[in-house]
Amino acid sequence: QPSPIPEPYWVAFSSSAAKLLKLKLKSDGYPEDGSWLNLLAGNSLETQSQKFPNPIATAYSGHQFGVWAGQLGDGRAILLGNIAGQELQLKGAGKTRYSRMGDGRAVLRSSIREFLCSEAMFSLGIPTSRALSVVGSKMPVLREALETAAVCARLAPSFIRVGHFEHFASTQNIARLKELADLLINEHYSECLNNKDHYLALFQKISERNAKLVAQWQAVGFCHGVLNSDNISVLGLTIDYGPFGFLDQFQMDHICNHSDHGGRYSYHRQPQIMHWNMACLASAFLPLLELDHSKEEAQKLLTDALSEFPIIFEKDWQTLFRGKLGFVNEQEEDIELIERLLQMMHETRVDFTKFFRGLADINSNAPISQIEARNDFIDRDAIDQWFSDYIARLQAESSVDAERKQRMNAVNPKYILRNHLAQAAIEKAQQQDFSEVAKLLSILESPFDEQEQYQEYANPPPPDLEFIEVSCSS
Ligand code: AMP
Ligand code: MG
Ligand code: MG
Repeated sequence: QPSPIPEPYWVAFSSSAAKLLKLKLKSDGYPEDGSWLNLLAGNSLETQSQKFPNPIATAYSGHQFGVWAGQLGDGRAILLGNIAGQELQLKGAGKTRYSRMGDGRAVLRSSIREFLCSEAMFSLGIPTSRALSVVGSKMPVLREALETAAVCARLAPSFIRVGHFEHFASTQNIARLKELADLLINEHYSECLNNKDHYLALFQKISERNAKLVAQWQAVGFCHGVLNSDNISVLGLTIDYGPFGFLDQFQMDHICNHSDHGGRYSYHRQPQIMHWNMACLASAFLPLLELDHSKEEAQKLLTDALSEFPIIFEKDWQTLFRGKLGFVNEQEEDIELIERLLQMMHETRVDFTKFFRGLADINSNAPISQIEARNDFIDRDAIDQWFSDYIARLQAESSVDAERKQRMNAVNPKYILRNHLAQAAIEKAQQQDFSEVAKLLSILESPFDEQEQYQEYANPPPPDLEFIEVSCSS
């Protein structure tokens, strides 16, 4: 059962996410049925039209920072039920039987971050859990400092994680493991039923979705921050937003999570780490494949399936970065061109989002000395050579600037959830002014549009706000 919070109030609401539930909204964007506030606060288990009599918290296990952590579970997330194919989960709704030493709560700061990022990722076209609302309360919650509680309502077709499979595999509860796999196939991967090896097909699909997901992260400069196996969705969704960060300045080994001392989850390691998580999943799938195969056969099948991951990732990564450069055709030399650019961006710490967005505007018929972006690089000769090769490459496919610009602006976002923007919205919200959260949400809902009146939201952080520390504390 969720534990109530005193005097709940709306902090944020996503009318776009509410559409998934076919909720009727008032002109202010909040639900017509006022009883939704108490439901999404965890203060009641019903609205005027719906009841959620059987809330649950689930057990899962997992590897944290590469180390087996044993049983974890929904320590502060409570699943209310299913509406229109979406599971409705309250994060921060109080203790569950899996809370261990935790208080079952989430603070306003981290709830706003999860809310905004979920909706921003959705609008970027990246698979993610959605966020319906944030409900706040004056209830104090102790982290490094005293903060206040909030509950974030999340939606996803399923919140099943790699860690759920690891849980039943580690306890050798093969009947439950099978039940879980069958449920996943029946409800979310029915295409696997066409394959005589259902479980192998399931593993392949999960691994494929996560390979594609991480390619998308890399292409927008998203760092998840805590890619523990219990934070990896088996639907290939981005879930469990904590100390995430979008790259401002491009740095391949950027670490967004202040608690990640070794840089295990740094930007350039994300693909490798996701592959590693799929290896954890493969281990958990071994008993399932052994139902129909010898141990050696099962191992061989899963190992082969796992080795597809880097191939799928590479292919998608290349396609996405070709798109970011505005290419239509595929040329083998493109990879060298992309990597040379990223290397220079890394060396000069060029703003990732701004650079790619700006690249759409270069005039391929004008002299390279007139390209403004060249001034952002330290080694002018090297970047001039790059621009010259880039323009030659565009000409080789008879690229038309105006058409290229349209293509590029549809894949290179202008607006991302930069940490300093989230921070400004949070600081206002902590003073009971939620207008900046709503404004940011609205800007991030159209990340590819120019939005003339909000140009400053596309800017990199001012130098004094470059290094906001975000840690696991949430
Ligand atoms: P995370 O790394 O944030 O995904 O969390 C790891 C585990 O710790 C999960 O099992 C969470 O449910 C649990 N957890 C995190 N914060 C709390 C909290 N404040 N109270 C109870 N459990 C928590
Ligand atoms: Mg988690
Ligand atoms: Mg978390």
